[in-house]
Amino acid sequence: MAKIVIDYSKCVGDRDKICVEICPVSVFRNGKSKKPAIVNEENCILCRTCQVNCPGQAIKILT
Ligand code: SF4
Repeated sequence: MAKIVIDYSKCVGDRDKICVEICPVSVFRNGKSKKPAIVNEENCILCRTCQVNCPGQAIKILT
């Protein structure tokens, strides 16, 4: 199973929530802090779309 790590010091989630929109299996959702939360990590199919498209380069997919 993938381990998804968000570096919240780099996350610009309050202006863009690209990962929430782009993940094909809804791993992320909007968190209370206006930044994304990881809610379905077990669904990750390791496509790395979120990692590649994150404007802050805040997401790492560890396998
Ligand atoms: S790697 Fe793909 S499936 Fe996994 S969280 Fe990122 S966008 Fe979703």
